[in-house]
Amino acid sequence: MMMKKLRNGVHMPQVGLGVYMMTDPEETINAVSEALKVGYRAIDTASYYENEKEVGEAIRTSGIPREELFITTKVWNDEQGYDETLRAFERSLELLGIDYLDLYLTHWPVPDKFIDTYRALERLYEEKLLRVPGVSNHSEKQLTLLESKVNVVPMVNQVECHPYLQQKSVIDFCNEREIALTAWSPLGKGTILQDELIQELAKVYEKTPAQIILRWHLQRDTIIIPKSVTPSRIKENFSLFDFELKEEDMERISKLDRDGRIGHDPDSYDFL
Ligand code: NDP
Repeated sequence: MMMKKLRNGVHMPQVGLGVYMMTDPEETINAVSEALKVGYRAIDTASYYENEKEVGEAIRTSGIPREELFITTKVWNDEQGYDETLRAFERSLELLGIDYLDLYLTHWPVPDKFIDTYRALERLYEEKLLRVPGVSNHSEKQLTLLESKVNVVPMVNQVECHPYLQQKSVIDFCNEREIALTAWSPLGKGTILQDELIQELAKVYEKTPAQIILRWHLQRDTIIIPKSVTPSRIKENFSLFDFELKEEDMERISKLDRDGRIGHDPDSYDFL
């Protein structure tokens, strides 16, 4: 498995399973169990997804030692603030049924709160209840403010990223600070699978369109958390290590960039 070494030396699996929109408990347990069976060791959930309990159940029944797993969850917008975040963290640990977390993220930079939220993450990191403090959906503006106020700069930023929204500027900014980038919606929620170039490359490499896109992310050194509840796709999305895209094909995919944002823009998100 490919691991990404973070600034503090912790190794994070470069491919994990995202579990957003897994709302059916049995479906969630089955998907996470299937992922762990085929070799995934990282799971990306959030209190907002309301499935931490099912993720916890699947990891417990897998029998995989806790230290081999890399569990991420996030503090939601209505849980932010210093004390509130400490309590939200407790709730998440309890639901997951674990006694420390690998990666905790501020889900969105709620104005007037995200600095205090992150300070709570710093405390959890100091107390060794958390191995890696990070953020999600933080723009350069928000990261700049944050880094002027905290001691430990986040080690991960999880943002929307896929061939139609390649986030070059955020990635450069994060690279300069050794903030690893995780791509959410790495497949553009499935919308990019039909792209003509992606389809063409899938034929050339004898891989699926999803594998072409996910391999492109890996070769850009990005962490990916594709979501699927379909066993064959869960396996497919993890079978990325037996081929390599040529430099010229990487560049052709880079030309697909088109400001094709699907989710909210952190700089204009309406937090009300
Ligand atoms: P993805 O880009 O991962 O796409 C998921 C969709 O693609 C699903 O409909 C899935 O279908 C389908 N799919 C997955 N693999 C394949 C495949 N091999 N072939 C064909 N179709 C496929 O979108 P997400 O938005 O779910 O993003 C991934 C994860 O990122 C989330 O689960 C979550 O953990 C995280 N995220 C974080 C956000 C944040 O604000 N921090 C926001 C959004 C997501 P099916 O399941 O039916 O197989």
